Amino acid sequence: MTPYEILLSIAVPRPNGSEACERTAAFIADRMVELTPGVTVQEFFLRPYMPAMVGLFMLVAAVACVLLVLRRRPWIALLIALLIPAVYLLEFEVNVPVVSRIAGRTGTNIIADFLPSGPIEEYITFSAHYDSKTELLDHQQRKPVHNFAPVAMVCLIVASVLGIVAGARERRSFRGRHPRLSASRSSRSRLYSPRARHSGADARAVIRARRIAVLLGIVGVAGLFMLTFVFAGGLFMPIEKQSPGARDDGSAVALLLSMADKLARGSAASGGPALEHTAVRLVFFGGEEVNMQGSTAYASSEIAKAGGFNKGIVVNCELLGGDEPYAYWESSGTFLSKFPSSEKAIELYQSALSSLGLAPAVAAGSIFDDSGPMLAAGFQAVTVGNSDPERPDSYHNAGDGVGNVRPERLNEFERVLFAMASALDGRGR
Ligand SMILES: [Zn+2]
Repeated sequence: MTPYEILLSIAVPRPNGSEACERTAAFIADRMVELTPGVTVQEFFLRPYMPAMVGLFMLVAAVACVLLVLRRRPWIALLIALLIPAVYLLEFEVNVPVVSRIAGRTGTNIIADFLPSGPIEEYITFSAHYDSKTELLDHQQRKPVHNFAPVAMVCLIVASVLGIVAGARERRSFRGRHPRLSASRSSRSRLYSPRARHSGADARAVIRARRIAVLLGIVGVAGLFMLTFVFAGGLFMPIEKQSPGARDDGSAVALLLSMADKLARGSAASGGPALEHTAVRLVFFGGEEVNMQGSTAYASSEIAKAGGFNKGIVVNCELLGGDEPYAYWESSGTFLSKFPSSEKAIELYQSALSSLGLAPAVAAGSIFDDSGPMLAAGFQAVTVGNSDPERPDSYHNAGDGVGNVRPERLNEFERVLFAMASALDGRGR
């Protein structure tokens, strides 16, 4: 089967948590088991609705924060306002499930090893993710929402602090005018707070501070509402409007499946490489579209180290099979933790392209994908694909169909990846 023929059978919406996603994983695992004895199905704790649940938590917390400021409970409001970025960072940056634990299930990575005829001297891993995602807004539309999220979080913190300041000022001005009453808490709470009791500059300052606090609080809620909309909106799309994930990342999965066929048959006659010293590993990740949960689990696992594959090069494949030039991404990760791609891996990719008479790959900037957790764990990884950095396409929508994949381009990509393995094998000799 050609990569394109395989793609036709898997290019249906496969969001995490769906039956289609699990069916795809089972299909891949079954195929690998037929082709090699070296198959491992790695199970990990998958939180399929993680971004949506984090978004929902932040939105509810933001509303609670504003209500508490209005109800003159600014210290509790501040605590909640600080909880929002803390939960966000724990979930997205540290991968610690705080609110997304609910509705968790077992996710799987499928790992298939193909060993050479001789003693192993080199290792190369090709990876791709089999899950897909649908979003309401495209890449460009999402950007301002994501950029505004930290501002919204700060607004809520400042709103709470203003509430605290206003409260303190109010109490001070009250004590100034009612020195004896202020000694008793019960009488104070009875008398304090009606605006009429305050007069002059102090009262005006308190009112102004509260107004600003509420305004900032509303800005914070609005910002986090937009973020939740971005995180969760796609879950409510009807199936026909969901992304079939053809180029993100179905084409790469199909290509790896086709490569497995050729690696299993082992000889150059099958169109695959005749590797003598190079072990090839194919990794099919789950949970990529929900913050790289599969690759995070893999990167820290014993399976990654088993057989020495953690010392070898990792070529992660994304957005394969389009008309755009061959590309590689220079780094992977979030703005808080971004990891540069492996120079050695890029060099191997470029030399494979040139050995086939193809133009050098273009640098496509930064990406936030499965190569991130692997680079963070010290792997020599790079993400490759077809992409035009001048005109980045939008994925995660119904437009990502098989019509955007050119079969001959996928076949060519297969030759490039095999050329990388062969070049490595040549060095081992
Ligand atoms: Zn992807």
